[in-house]
Amino acid sequence: MSESIFTKIINRQIPANIVYEDDLVIAFSDINPQAKYHFLIVPKKEIATVNDVTEADEPALGRLFTVARHLAREYGIDTSGYRLTVNTNSDAGQEVFHIHMHLLGGNKLGSMV
Ligand code: 5GP
Repeated sequence: MSESIFTKIINRQIPANIVYEDDLVIAFSDINPQAKYHFLIVPKKEIATVNDVTEADEPALGRLFTVARHLAREYGIDTSGYRLTVNTNSDAGQEVFHIHMHLLGGNKLGSMV
């Protein structure tokens, strides 16, 4: 299977505004932002959807939340608020089949549920 667009960002094959990186995850600005701040936080391991996660992935998936907390503080939206979203498959509108957490904030967000 060919590598995902996010793996290409991880491997520096395509450019992105990278705002965080460590051994397990990377975070970068969404190319089509839906809020003042819209970051994608992505495990380096290419997991297609939440349906494909295993217990072995828990360290990387837990790291998504600690990086979200870190970015929210760094961009000054931890108190005002932000939204974390993980879309899965077609009804949720998943477009990139490499698990990612959206972090949206910096302005008032419309209600989703
Ligand atoms: P999904 O709908 O799969 O949850 O979200 C995929 C997100 O990836 C979309 O918000 C889309 O704008 C973003 N995206 C797609 N291709 C690229 C890209 O090449 N670079 C960046 N930075 N974001 C991308």
